[in-house]
Amino acid sequence: MAAEGQAIRASCGSYGAVDQMPHAFAEGSFGAIVPDLMTLGEEPSAPPIDDISGYEGTALGDGGGKDLPPPSNLVTDRGGGGPPSAQTNWNIPAVSEDTAKEAFIQYAAGKCCYSSTPAKEMVFRDLHPFNTYRYRLETFTESRSSEWKTTPYKGEFVDSFLLGPAPLPWDIQVEVPTMFTDTKTSVKVPHTSLLKDCHNCRSSGTIRCTKCHGRRKVDCWVCHGSGTRMNDDRCSHCHGSGRSRCNSCSGSGHKTCTICAGKGQLLYYIELQVKWKNNIFEYVADQRSGFPADFFKEVTGQKMFVDEQSMVYPVVNFPDPSINQASEKAVVQHHTQFASTSRVLRQRQTIELIPLTKVEYEWQGKRYSYYVYGDENRVYAENYPQKCCCSVL
Ligand SMILES: [Zn+2]
Ligand SMILES: [Zn+2]
Ligand SMILES: [Zn+2]
Repeated sequence: MAAEGQAIRASCGSYGAVDQMPHAFAEGSFGAIVPDLMTLGEEPSAPPIDDISGYEGTALGDGGGKDLPPPSNLVTDRGGGGPPSAQTNWNIPAVSEDTAKEAFIQYAAGKCCYSSTPAKEMVFRDLHPFNTYRYRLETFTESRSSEWKTTPYKGEFVDSFLLGPAPLPWDIQVEVPTMFTDTKTSVKVPHTSLLKDCHNCRSSGTIRCTKCHGRRKVDCWVCHGSGTRMNDDRCSHCHGSGRSRCNSCSGSGHKTCTICAGKGQLLYYIELQVKWKNNIFEYVADQRSGFPADFFKEVTGQKMFVDEQSMVYPVVNFPDPSINQASEKAVVQHHTQFASTSRVLRQRQTIELIPLTKVEYEWQGKRYSYYVYGDENRVYAENYPQKCCCSVL
């Protein structure tokens, strides 16, 4: 039970509690303000109250929370300055023959059933560079949601609505973490706490043992309740009674309620859940190189252009028009997706040049090819000449 002076019990079973409340608040007066929607023994499916301004519709439990879109004054506008200007002359040469060969030998050595002989003996015929551009738009958003939570009441101070109105969801100050990094936090919303009897144990703090159903004894596990052994001797474990003490409740017939941890009361409060997410739009310009574009995901390129602002303008003057189109599409798409449901804190767009070189070579009179890609000089070879050295029996 709550300590005297910390919680005042209303006659209907709900509590509006505050430290050192004057007794002018007569018993029962809180019941009129805080309707008791939960009767004893009911599952806690309904929130205890539904009229906290700014948090209407907040539900109890782990349902992911009720989304709280930001007010219109927090919707980010683009600053002045206009679209960014991009550099123009960005071509880079193919990798050198030495680099291409070394990467190829490493590649063959890394595959257990590839012979490295072709990689060592091959003769270069042609190195063809492709300038492959990757455009990326990152939109760093903050979204907020709310949920009713309960915790066993251990006599702590109850920050109830009697201390003032709850601050609106987006008025609560939360420290912004590192930009462009996914993370989340949660905050107890001030002035939303209230006490209620535990529905699970009817505020007694204990529930009946489910193993012995409160009878304190169960069938003896040695004689299975018969009181005798196989040779008709009396069971020495239960002394012939067929019953022994219930281990689950230590013979008391009841157990501590897990919902309220035996306290008999629950503290309800609204939890504000804040989530930061880096949303990424990515586009790789197709150079008709024949190289499977999915492989670009695993490598890095050279950053040619970085533009970071509270909100970016689409790139308009990049030499490859498909990058301009991708940028336009990305900016519109992210605005539609996030501007009304979350707060856009920052945007960053980058254009990378990912090196890609197609190497044509000859081995034992036949022509083959492979690709060297990424700053990491990864190799992709669809038709390596001498595979399967260990799979041929
Ligand atoms: Zn027995
Ligand atoms: Zn029991
Ligand atoms: Zn309980």
